[in-house]
Amino acid sequence: MIRFDKVNKWYGPQLKVLNEVTAEVKKGEVVVVCGPSGSGKTTLIRTINRLEPIDSGSITVNGTDAHSSKNNVNTLRRDIGFVFQQFNLFPHMSVLNNITLAPRKLRGMSRAAAEEKARELLDRVGLADKAEAYPAQLSGGQSQRVAIARSLAMDPPIILFDEPTSALDPEMVGEVLAVMKGLATTGITMMCVTHEMGFARDVADRVWFLDKGNLLEDAKPDEFFSNPTHPRAQRFLADLR
Ligand code: ADP
Repeated sequence: MIRFDKVNKWYGPQLKVLNEVTAEVKKGEVVVVCGPSGSGKTTLIRTINRLEPIDSGSITVNGTDAHSSKNNVNTLRRDIGFVFQQFNLFPHMSVLNNITLAPRKLRGMSRAAAEEKARELLDRVGLADKAEAYPAQLSGGQSQRVAIARSLAMDPPIILFDEPTSALDPEMVGEVLAVMKGLATTGITMMCVTHEMGFARDVADRVWFLDKGNLLEDAKPDEFFSNPTHPRAQRFLADLR
């Protein structure tokens, strides 16, 4: 579903942020990307839907060369849900309008059909009673669950999460992880940058470990956590304990 082939990216002449990254995510897999701060995790995930350009190599998404100028970036992004650390809800729109906007404008869905689907999604993330609320009236955990519902409104085959719980108060992390956990069982392809190693252990099919732009580990969670092959990954895990 997603294939990185010798992806290289620099920020300016000094900082190589991705170094020959080669890996793939299969359909329906859940991949958790971890690694020290500044290792390139956010950059890596943002290259998938072309929020960041790459300097060489290729990224193929569902058979399409994501960075080819011949391919329309809006078409690419329609198939890829993206959940940010900072929710990015439209503050002047109700929850319902936040969720129905893209299906109505980009898919030409009728208001009634889009709202019906939005209410189903809100029910799924445990917020059926918040349809008429505005983002400012929501807690961080509720906002992030709305953001997830909004991403799902376009029925994307892929959903990407960039540190979805990092901006939340600790007591709200669980409710967002629970929604993500439920989502992982639906067959959607998921890639998630997170420091939540419990989530990685319980939910991921593969764990990727990045360090200084190098993908040092691509392993099943039990292998990664019990027997990481690279000393840098061993140190990373030891520091978490
Ligand atoms: P991580 O998500 O693992 O913390 P990032 O991908 O955010 O890592 O950043 C990797 C490195 O690239 C860091 O050193 C960061 O400071 C740098 N960086 C990130 N974005 C930019 C940018 N837009 N311009 C220049 N440097 C950047």
